[in-house]
Amino acid sequence: MVRSTDVFVIGGGPAGLAIAIAARQRGLRVAVADGMQPPIDKACGEALMPEGLAALERLGLQLPLEQAYRFRGIRFLSRRLAADALFPFGGNGLAARRTVLHRVMVERAEQVGADLFWRQTVSGITPDGVRVGKDFFRARWIVGADGANSRVRRWARLQASSQPRLRYAFRRHYRIAPWTGHMEVHWGERCQGYATPIGTEHVCVVMASNDPKLRMDDGLRDLPWLSDRLRNAESVTAERGAVTGNLRLKRVWRGNVALIGDAAGTVDAITGEGLRLAFSQAVALAECIEADDLAGYQKVHDRLTLRPRLMARLLLALDGRPRLQHRTLRVFQQHPEVFRRLLALHTGALPPQQLVRDGLTLGWGLITA
Ligand SMILES: Cc1cc2nc3c(=O)[nH]c(=O)nc-3n(C[C@H](O)[C@H](O)[C@H](O)COP(=O)(O)OP(=O)(O)OC[C@H]3O[C@@H](n4cnc5c(N)ncnc54)[C@H](O)[C@@H]3O)c2cc1C
Repeated sequence: MVRSTDVFVIGGGPAGLAIAIAARQRGLRVAVADGMQPPIDKACGEALMPEGLAALERLGLQLPLEQAYRFRGIRFLSRRLAADALFPFGGNGLAARRTVLHRVMVERAEQVGADLFWRQTVSGITPDGVRVGKDFFRARWIVGADGANSRVRRWARLQASSQPRLRYAFRRHYRIAPWTGHMEVHWGERCQGYATPIGTEHVCVVMASNDPKLRMDDGLRDLPWLSDRLRNAESVTAERGAVTGNLRLKRVWRGNVALIGDAAGTVDAITGEGLRLAFSQAVALAECIEADDLAGYQKVHDRLTLRPRLMARLLLALDGRPRLQHRTLRVFQQHPEVFRRLLALHTGALPPQQLVRDGLTLGWGLITA
């Protein structure tokens, strides 16, 4: 059977649903196919920073507050030290299970009139459209939103020339009342543990490291504060793994094919920025599709990903370096404004140029000297 649409989106994760919603908001006909059945789960820190929340709202989406948790800032902890900073302007982040986010996005995509095809794996593309099982969809535009191992990226010859440094991550949920109003990053010698409160009774924990063999319980042995917190907490989900890292593509479009979300390149999980990027890219891509200007999308994409990529590199300078972690946390404790400004920069409230002027550079110099 042959059908036709304006935009065919391959992958119905957060990025695919976001572009489907944004394109429908501009009146384009949209079809989305995903090989899985909703609500789709995935190993994720499940945190949306304030900018991510704003980007979600631009798509007309809100997470149900009774199934989510507001957090007000970021706390770093190492073996002996802890330091925290609040988001600028009294802002907050929001965290929720991936399945909750996915359900809300599916409902919104249906509501705005996108055609959603679940358990339908796309097996190939041509300049005219997309093959889904025995069917062929004619499409003016094809969007690859098929995640970090994107096949669309390969089909459109948009692969990166070099492989990123991969890190390995595992996620588990624990039944425990949140002990903090912050998202916590626990720094260990071999790994980091990210703890995000996702409801009044649950905390999501991600363990990330360079060691493919390191699992959640190995990591917890390296993170005494976090393991103390979780000692009597029941784990309510199985450990789910993923790889992470900074992957940058030279190009995110060719002809009538554009990539979005993790398919278009990834930023390391430590930034907590993947979802925000996908939502912001979706708004930009829909605008560029309508204007028949995918070159314009490339420019916006490059600008959007620059800051998270730099932040990931900056933060990962601490990875596996306990003395540097200790020095950093000491500086953050003694000069809380340095941490506050770093967080303001991370969340887009501070332009990078101001970093030089206002002395954060000096703070970072203190750390790395
Ligand atoms: C450990 C970890 C922690 C993270 N923590 C955070 C965080 O706290 N906050 C944050 O903002 N980001 C975080 N991220 C990043 C975030 O999870 C990703 O950026 C986000 O999932 C990207 O969404 P996506 O839709 O591009 O890809 P995915 O969520 O991977 O979705 C891709 C979809 O494509 C489908 N698909 C693939 N191939 C095909 C095909 N051929 N046909 C049909 N369907 C197909 C898949 O079934 C899947 O549903 C984290 C990532 C990791 C690894």
